[in-house]
Amino acid sequence: MQLSADMLALAEEYGIHPDTFPRLQIEAGALTSIAAYLNEKGMSKAVLIMDAQTRAAAGDRLAAQLERENIQVHTIELLANHHGQVNADEAALVQVLVETPMDTDVLLAVGAGTIHDITRFCSQKLSVPFVAVPTAASVDGFTSKGAPLILRGVKQTIQTAAPVAVFADLDVLCAAPRPLTAAGFGDILGKFTSLLDWEISARVGGEAYHALAAKMTRHSLDTCIDHVDEIAKADKAGIRILMEALIESGLVMQVLDYSRPASGAEHHLSHYWEMHLLENDKRQLLHGAKVGVACSIITELYKNWVEQFDPSEAKGAYAAALLANWDEIRLMIAALPTPETLQYYLEQVGAPASTEEIGIPSELVQDSLNEAYHLRDRCTALFLINQFKREQISYPLQDRIGSR
Ligand SMILES: [Zn+2]
Repeated sequence: MQLSADMLALAEEYGIHPDTFPRLQIEAGALTSIAAYLNEKGMSKAVLIMDAQTRAAAGDRLAAQLERENIQVHTIELLANHHGQVNADEAALVQVLVETPMDTDVLLAVGAGTIHDITRFCSQKLSVPFVAVPTAASVDGFTSKGAPLILRGVKQTIQTAAPVAVFADLDVLCAAPRPLTAAGFGDILGKFTSLLDWEISARVGGEAYHALAAKMTRHSLDTCIDHVDEIAKADKAGIRILMEALIESGLVMQVLDYSRPASGAEHHLSHYWEMHLLENDKRQLLHGAKVGVACSIITELYKNWVEQFDPSEAKGAYAAALLANWDEIRLMIAALPTPETLQYYLEQVGAPASTEEIGIPSELVQDSLNEAYHLRDRCTALFLINQFKREQISYPLQDRIGSR
């Protein structure tokens, strides 16, 4: 995968030399290139971090290939919790820190988002570089530095290490379970509202905005929407488009050292639900599955807001800036696809399209609409709606005036 001219321009602006970007290889058979890369870099002792599923999907095959090329391999199979899941929590982090031999040259994250988050944290703490070997196009965080970790039952994102290389084997990605690919698409779909929230925050909350970073993230989104049929087929062409979009979005975050282009109110809702599931010791849901559903709910809320809000009633902080920008904000929200269209996209790729499908009860959605804006000190339209609301936001949302 070549870095785009926009990416090179963005990197230059931030004083980042293109050589410090991870090497990116997205192609069928990419697994077979890893041994040569490690030998070229003089990395002869590798630790593979995986779980039972990703060991079967790629880990065992990769280990055998590396050993054939005289690389010493130590494997760590992360243990699942009582829900049969691996979380990026203390148990997993300590397992990797304990089981990694002292003289390791490189960690290889063989898995989806969670295994990458565990590995990127340990990579930084052990001062050992890591190579990303995604086994599913499930999330946009493979190349970013932020690791969302669950510590003492609370989720927090810690800035850690980015991979030195990404080897995304299309044969492996195409064979991934469909919900994982669908979640990757959901994470991308969330850019509709994250980009909107960023622009609103810049206008109303005075947050720094970067037009090129926004444009690049928008390009990732548009490409996936234009090729939703191919992504739904999960063939190599479609999965390549999705994976490149996820990586591009992640690289923008890596350069900015900031997740803002890719994370707005839809991510705040997702985080709120996730924390609730953690507090109640429930099974975790795929990140992108929550984000995709949350994006359609947030879109519906914003469109209702535009139709129901009387700007003359705005008072307090933010009111003047909101009123000064109201015409543009209204147009930006009107330009969002309808919630029904967003749900249609999700259904096309086989992603859950409603909170019922992911088992999030209406009361929890309602609580999140009223409280999730507290999670981050970021201005979003959700934050503004909560500033100006006269009563609690109810859920299901009331019909839009225009659709009655
Ligand atoms: Zn995300």
